Formats: sequence, C-alpha cells, structure tokens
Amino acid sequence: MIAQHFEYTVATSLGEAVSLLQKYGDRAKLLAGGHSLVPMMKLRLASPEVLIDIGRLSELSYVMEENGALRIGALTTHHSIESSEVVGRGCRSLAEAAGEIGDIQVRNKGTIGGSVAHADPAADYPATLLAFDATIVTLGPRGERSIHASDFFVDMLTTALEPGEIVREIRIPVHSGRSGSAYLKFAQKASGFAICGVSAVVDLDGAGAISKVAVGITGVGNKAFRGAGTETALRGQQPSPGLLRSACEKAAAGVVALDDIHASAGYRLDLARIYARRALEKAVERAG
Ligand SMILES: Cc1cc2nc3c(=O)[nH]c(=O)nc-3n(C[C@H](O)[C@H](O)[C@H](O)COP(=O)(O)OP(=O)(O)OC[C@H]3O[C@@H](n4cnc5c(N)ncnc54)[C@H](O)[C@@H]3O)c2cc1C
Repeated sequence: MIAQHFEYTVATSLGEAVSLLQKYGDRAKLLAGGHSLVPMMKLRLASPEVLIDIGRLSELSYVMEENGALRIGALTTHHSIESSEVVGRGCRSLAEAAGEIGDIQVRNKGTIGGSVAHADPAADYPATLLAFDATIVTLGPRGERSIHASDFFVDMLTTALEPGEIVREIRIPVHSGRSGSAYLKFAQKASGFAICGVSAVVDLDGAGAISKVAVGITGVGNKAFRGAGTETALRGQQPSPGLLRSACEKAAAGVVALDDIHASAGYRLDLARIYARRALEKAVERAG
C-alpha cells in the first residue's frame, strides 16, 4: 500500500527537532531509520501529516563509556551497536540483541532511539534495557528527563514519552568484576522479531554465589518484563543446573502471554522458561 500524503521537513539540530515537534504537535512524527514508521504508514496504521526527519543528526549517533555507564545516542544504528567494541565489552547482551535484529539492511538503518520509542512488544532491546536497569534520557520543551526502563515501556507500542519529547540517549550501568550477560531469542522466521527473547545478567561474588541477577523477557507479553520470580530464587545461591532449571519455572509467573498466529500463549510461556534458563547458563559461564 501507499502512505497517505505528508509534508517532509529535515531537522538540522536537536533543538530544531524539539521546536518543530512543538510547532506541529500531534500532526507530526519523527523519522529516524524509518524501519518501523514507514511500514506503519504504508499499512495506514500511522498517518502523520508531517514527518520531521532527524536521521541526519550526527550529534545523536555515538557510543561511549563514561563514569561507569555506557552512553548510546538515540540515532546509533543497530549495526553500530552490534559491532561496537565498547558495547561488546561492557554490555555483551546488548550487542547480541542488536545483532539479532531483522537483517543487515534493517540493522544499517534502524536506530536504538527509534526502537525504544516504537516499543514493539517483540522488539529485542527492551529485554536487555530492563535487565541492565538502563535509563532513557529524553529532551522536550520542558528540558531533559531521565526515565528508568521499567517506567518507560508502558504497554504495547506505548511509552512514557510525553508529547514533544525526543529520545536523546540510552544510559546503561556497566557491571565490573565477575559479571556476565547473554541475549538469546526464538525468532519469528520471516521478520526476525522475538517470539521470545531473554536477556540475562549475572554477577558472582568471590565464592562463586550469585550476588546480582536480572532477567528481561521480550516477545511474550504486551510489553517486556523482568522475570522477578526467577531472580528472587537465584539471588545469593550457588548456580547449578538444577537450581537454574527450577528458578526458571517462575520466569513468566503472572504474565498474560500473547496468543497469535505465530505462537500460542502456552508455547510462549514454555519458551520463556527454556530461554531464561539457557540465557542464565550462558551469563553464569561468562561471569565465571
Ligand atoms: C523487515 C524488518 C524486520 C525487523 N526485525 C526486527 C527484529 O527482529 N527485532 C527488532 O527489535 N526490531 C525489528 N525491526 C524494527 C527495527 O528494529 C526498527 O529499526 C526499529 O524498531 C525502529 O527504529 P527506526 O530508527 O527505524 O525508527 P523509525 O521507524 O524512524 O521510528 C519509529 C517510531 O519511533 C519514533 N522515533 C524515532 N526516533 C525517535 C526518537 N529519537 N525520539 C522519539 N521518537 C522517535 C518515530 O516517530 C516512530 O513513531 C524490523 C523492521 C523491519 C522492517
């Protein structure tokens, strides 16, 4: 299908993008990599009257490590994240998640800011951003806000972004010492989107017990969530195959799973348990 007629304007700075968003209000949408918005427009699921192209704002494309945190600009492409040495070292599961997105064409154009703002329930990043307690930094008419990932993803395609706000940066605390992370996904064959994707982060203490653990799960419910039951069962324990298996029985406890043509709710819940265990096993191995 062909998108409805729209006006097109290019923002030449972040400040100009905020002003243009204010000027056009809810008639406008930002265009970053266009790999979620343009398909939505072609299907007439989105019909903005004005597109504000922020895709050329190089000031928003960067990856750096500063004061124990990874800072990733909103316009950093999936491919840049996948291939970043800094991300691979400090947040391996994020690099793995980026490398799992769609195909190379999608990864060369799509951006992390566009992905988090779009909040697809089957997107790859949210699981890792939740597991790493990431912060989404936004800029709007009232200035900058830092929103915790657990507050940012509100529901299917719905975030805590307020009208006129732009995602500016993603900040991820880097774990030091005996720490490991891993992202594993069971993908929908045609698009690559997650039917279930799990990101696990594990810190071990000097005696090899689990001092910190986080499990983020995407693709299973309306929005990505933390496997809180699994985390509680593992905290303070010595990791063993039996413990990981029993803890992961609670990976999606209380979650209403999606049920669609790609997978039944029951199948998704099974995948959540299995992929949580596999991701945790890998994270523990890497931490060791
Ligand atoms: C064939 C195909 C396969 C895909 N497979 C996967 C997959 O396996 N896993 C996965 O996670 N994703 C997948 N995607 C989606 C892809 O990751 C998109 O790149 C991403 O979801 C959106 O990023 P974008 O830069 O393309 O954003 P756009 O499409 O330009 O924008 C998406 C939305 O975010 C808004 N937006 C963009 N940037 C900002 C910003 N900085 N601040 C505020 N709002 C903003 C836009 O207004 C729009 O509403 C796939 C897409 C395609 C086409």
